[in-house]
Amino acid sequence: MGKNLINLTELTFQSMIESVPNAIVLVNKEGRIAYINNQTEKLFRYDRTELVGQSIEILIPERFRKNHPNFRDMFFASPSVREMGAGRDLFGIRKDGTEFPVEIGLNPLITADGTLVLASIIDITERKKAEERFRLVVESAPNAMVLVNKDGVITLVNAQAERLFGYKKKELIGAQLETLIPDRFRRKHPDHRNSFFASPSARAMGEGRDLYALRKDKTEVQVEIGLNPIETDEGQVVLASIIDITKRKEQESIIINQMSELGIKNKELEQFAYIASHDLQEPLRTISNYIQIIEEDYWEEMNDETKTHLKTIHHSTDRMNALVKALLDFSRLGRNSKLTKVDFSKIVNEVISDLENLIKETDTKIHVEDLPVSYGYETELRLVFQNLISNAIKFRKDNVPAEIRIGYENKEGQLQFFVSDEGIGIESKNLERIFHIFQRLHLDDQYEGYGIGLANCKKIVELHRGKIWVESEVGKGSKFCFTLPNLKL
Ligand code: ADP
Repeated sequence: MGKNLINLTELTFQSMIESVPNAIVLVNKEGRIAYINNQTEKLFRYDRTELVGQSIEILIPERFRKNHPNFRDMFFASPSVREMGAGRDLFGIRKDGTEFPVEIGLNPLITADGTLVLASIIDITERKKAEERFRLVVESAPNAMVLVNKDGVITLVNAQAERLFGYKKKELIGAQLETLIPDRFRRKHPDHRNSFFASPSARAMGEGRDLYALRKDKTEVQVEIGLNPIETDEGQVVLASIIDITKRKEQESIIINQMSELGIKNKELEQFAYIASHDLQEPLRTISNYIQIIEEDYWEEMNDETKTHLKTIHHSTDRMNALVKALLDFSRLGRNSKLTKVDFSKIVNEVISDLENLIKETDTKIHVEDLPVSYGYETELRLVFQNLISNAIKFRKDNVPAEIRIGYENKEGQLQFFVSDEGIGIESKNLERIFHIFQRLHLDDQYEGYGIGLANCKKIVELHRGKIWVESEVGKGSKFCFTLPNLKL
């Protein structure tokens, strides 16, 4: 025995009992109260003189009084330190008749006057309230919830859990958790549980594995489970929150199927556009050739009306030729192209020098900010700038030379480029439409075109997994923006 730091004999038994925070009641064999401390007076709201000498049953609600002397006799027959009530809910009753839940520890005390029992009483109203609150929260949770202790025994379930598993509450409480786990996973589960309790933390169960639960009717349900460790008086427990994801999984597999079907359809369509435009070129060429022959050989013999008709045919086949070629180019975009380092300043300057004549003729001003170097499909990206710049020149205001700005910003790891002009602008209802193939807003002859430039830009930008859009105001100008991931290879 270690040496005490103080001389215990100096502390009287009484002053010790008065100083503990619990209510303490000393009871003799006959069930009479021999002593109470101040806490007991407070807790039961009696004066000491009213209790000492009274039967202890005065502090017990009426309905428990009858059995109490038996319990008391049993205790005195084999006195030991233990909790009273072994799992039963215990209550005390105050002088004013109100009841409250208690927890009671019993200690035999051998004295000169025989064996006494020292009962230490704790008011657990607050704890019960907290438990009740917890139960209510669990009950009202939208998910199925199951509270499990270290031994894998279910101690609480909510109505959602009853519904999900098809069991009644009373069938689940006290049952092993493994009841809810399909056979093939059951054996391993206690190991998983032990490792959870060894380092408890709030987390999802079974990272990456598909989880299944077993219903009472032996059917299985795919679930997602969140685990939350909770410290309680009965030790560490885990609150498992369970979501039925059968529907979500079904939906996921539908979406995956649809995506792959869509991918296949898209490929087929691209292939179709490629083959169709490729094969259409041949007969078109033949028609053009024969028109040329007719023009050359029979021009003198034709009257004016026939000449006009022939010119119209000529014009239309030229246009069709250009459209078919544009379609072919469009469907070819991105085929066999390789990601390379792209110096955007360089490609923009190249495009500007390609367009030199047009720029001079139209008196266009172009301001190019510093542009980055990144990775992409160079030929295609050059085409994007070429389309955007020539559109900005083409759709300038009457008699006002175009003024174009080109720049970029680094936005959340993406490069965001812009080509802006002060031209005629675009009505807001058309801002999306213009990116679709063969969509043009001006069908008269004022602006030539085939309606494919922006469709090309969109396809190229999307090939880079970027986005393209336009901000515009009629009469003020347009700002075409597109993003590209800032790839670092
Ligand atoms: P195209 O220029 O051959 O008509 P695009 O696909 O390049 O085809 O453009 C589609 C339509 O979008 C154009 O016909 C025009 O109406 C509109 N558009 C494109 N760029 C501009 C611009 N910078 N300002 C105003 N309208 C524009």
